[in-house]
Amino acid sequence: MRIDIISAVPQLLESPLNHSIIKRAKEKGVVEINIVNLHDYGKGKFRHIDDYGFGGDSGMVIMPEPLYNAITDLTERRKYDYVIYTSPDGEILDQPMANSLSCAENIIILCGHYKGIDHRIREHLITKEISIGNYVLSGGELAAAVITDAIVRLIPGAMSDETSALSDSFQDDLLAPPIYTRPADFRGWKVPEVLLSGNPKLIKEWQEAQALERTKRLRPDLLKK
Ligand code: SAH
Repeated sequence: MRIDIISAVPQLLESPLNHSIIKRAKEKGVVEINIVNLHDYGKGKFRHIDDYGFGGDSGMVIMPEPLYNAITDLTERRKYDYVIYTSPDGEILDQPMANSLSCAENIIILCGHYKGIDHRIREHLITKEISIGNYVLSGGELAAAVITDAIVRLIPGAMSDETSALSDSFQDDLLAPPIYTRPADFRGWKVPEVLLSGNPKLIKEWQEAQALERTKRLRPDLLKK
């Protein structure tokens, strides 16, 4: 899979995309992540990308031309499954969406900044708009990092144990059961007996019952689905 992220502040993406699972997935060739600096498509000597918004509202707006040039530079070279814009008014990211995006071949993620981007780009070039929650961030970079992380860990080969992602919360609309590691007794706080039983059937039944109980108690909305 290839992910191209277009950003006005690429430095914000450096740490989240260069460690842990994403780093290893890149090294293994499972995913290629390319960061495009929007200022490379900026206008004039100072490569500026923003201008005052029409209508007198405060705040700067990213101009259509640098966005158009950055996006078409990519789309002229290969076919993209999605041209995504990160936006607080987009469809809220959830596990089924991450599952489906992880099957794509090539995607673009465009990060907004300031007041946002000129609406004509959203109308003509963007094919999917994603929000990571009902709050406003200063830029789309952290949202792009969240989306990328959620997708990449699902691509076969990204994680050392491929089945692990399937037992995470939200797969099957259930929260994950509690997890424990050694020691079995820490300061008198004991790991549930059944997990030490060595009986896979009993353990699975316990995990399923816990997942259901936690979902009922903490996220009953998931069960209504
Ligand atoms: N004026 C916009 C907010 C702009 S915030 C509005 O009221 O909707 C600046 C940029 O941060 C946006 O262009 C978007 O790319 C990003 N952003 C902010 N909140 C976000 C969220 N919840 N999910 C995804 N991207 C977000």
